[in-house]
Amino acid sequence: MSLFDHVEFDQHEHVSYVCDPDSGLRAIIAIHNTQLGPAMGGTRYYPYLNDADALTDVLRLSRGMSYKSALARLPLGGGKSVIIGDPKMQKTPAQMRAFGRFLERLGGLYIAAEDSGTSVADMKIVREVTTHVSGCDDKQTLEGHTKSGDPSPATAYGCFLGIQAAVEYRLKRDDLNGLIVGIQGLGNVGYRLAEMLAEAGAHLIVTDINAEAVHRAERELDAKAVGLDDIYSQPMDIFAPCALGATVNPHTLEQLQASIIAGSANNQLDTAETGRRVHAKGLCYAPDYVINAGGIIDVCYEKQGNYDTDIVNQHIEGIYDTLMALFERSERDNMATSDLADTMARERLQPAPVQPT
Ligand code: NAD
Repeated sequence: MSLFDHVEFDQHEHVSYVCDPDSGLRAIIAIHNTQLGPAMGGTRYYPYLNDADALTDVLRLSRGMSYKSALARLPLGGGKSVIIGDPKMQKTPAQMRAFGRFLERLGGLYIAAEDSGTSVADMKIVREVTTHVSGCDDKQTLEGHTKSGDPSPATAYGCFLGIQAAVEYRLKRDDLNGLIVGIQGLGNVGYRLAEMLAEAGAHLIVTDINAEAVHRAERELDAKAVGLDDIYSQPMDIFAPCALGATVNPHTLEQLQASIIAGSANNQLDTAETGRRVHAKGLCYAPDYVINAGGIIDVCYEKQGNYDTDIVNQHIEGIYDTLMALFERSERDNMATSDLADTMARERLQPAPVQPT
């Protein structure tokens, strides 16, 4: 398998394949760009069918982190790591420590955090052997409270604000009362987002492979549950993908009745071309790495050691303004929001011009 010719390679600065036979760890660490600071991004633990799928995923996610941090104006580069395996069956503390030792060897070029399949508890184990990890320490806020290292509530908050921005822009409304939101995935982010939306008066249609989460949403949030493949065709105003990537594709787009796509999942569009189709159909799409930046903002402040809830929340609230600006420019320039976000991020990643001496 060629790395440099890989369709998702995109000039990655560094890619490591790591293996620890004693613990059974097999992982890939990808560092896309460190122009703005050390690369930071989560560690996904997932049962990839083969190494090629794992590589494609980590390269796409890693580039997304460069773009995400650049547009969120964080002093961070983009990177990501994937551990190959089933987290429920194979994950062990020995593996997480072995993974941490590899991070230590990279000397801070890449800083890990949790992602799908890894938790605060896992990152605390990684923290035993390296400081190059975030999203694990309880934060002592300047107000004297203790806050968990889990970035998911911050991600959900950013997504909620992003949905508000899309609703204001596309539906010309400043409230969510009575709007129907279809949520795909009721995990750490999706469930918290569902709670905020229900609190704001939205009606929820939900789906998840985890029946327990679905029942909980029915019970606690009065959500309507539908089958995994039925979510797309439901009558709804907003589709919020909060599970996997590539669930917005030509097949699902044909069925979607929503006028807004705004959720937390990374890599929601299967291809860049789908982003253009979304735009051509007149749908308002909040680019994934813009709307889901709340978590990276949260762990960035944790890593810097200056966690002030008000400042972190203000930074997350910038997601609303960034999206509004994107929606307006997309209409003005007749350009898909997905392409526009990529262009803006790439501009920010340009190396500073060398000054003549
Ligand atoms: P999670 O693993 O806690 O939740 C994912 C949920 O999706 C689970 O409940 C799972 O059962 C469900 N799911 C899996 N396959 C499904 C399917 N086919 N249909 C419907 N539901 C399905 O993950 P999370 O932390 O909530 O993250 C959700 C998404 O948001 C991921 O794509 C993640 O990369 C992205 N994201 C998360 C954060 C964060 O702070 N956690 C930050 C940025 C982006």
